[in-house]
Amino acid sequence: MTDVFSKKKRSDVMRSIKSKGNRSTELKLIELFKARRIVGWRRNSTLSGRPDFIFPKQRVALFADGCFWHGHSCRNLTPAQNADYWREKIKRNRARDRAVTRALKKKGWRVVRLWECEIKKGKIGKLEKCLVIG
Ligand SMILES: [Zn+2]
Repeated sequence: MTDVFSKKKRSDVMRSIKSKGNRSTELKLIELFKARRIVGWRRNSTLSGRPDFIFPKQRVALFADGCFWHGHSCRNLTPAQNADYWREKIKRNRARDRAVTRALKKKGWRVVRLWECEIKKGKIGKLEKCLVIG
């Protein structure tokens, strides 16, 4: 399988993943999966953009997007220092998110993106709906 990203872009992608720091969000998701008897998920996917979880049977790729890194409107945490730098960085992250979603859709995956704040509140309806349809 060829990578949809150039080498340079790939290293950007990898860096952005490290900076996500959403381990606690992932663990919360696993808790929610167990509580709602959601099965068939896999971690450590090597698909484009490295989804946090995939459901191979339904071909659903799930991303847990950190509200800060991916620019959710739920909070305005752009640090006062270097605000332009952060705004640019978040803008790039969002553009990359869209590119990843497009690339996965092209390969026949459905993409679900849950915000960190939704996950914390246990709101994973978007995912549940997608899995049922599949
Ligand atoms: Zn949010």
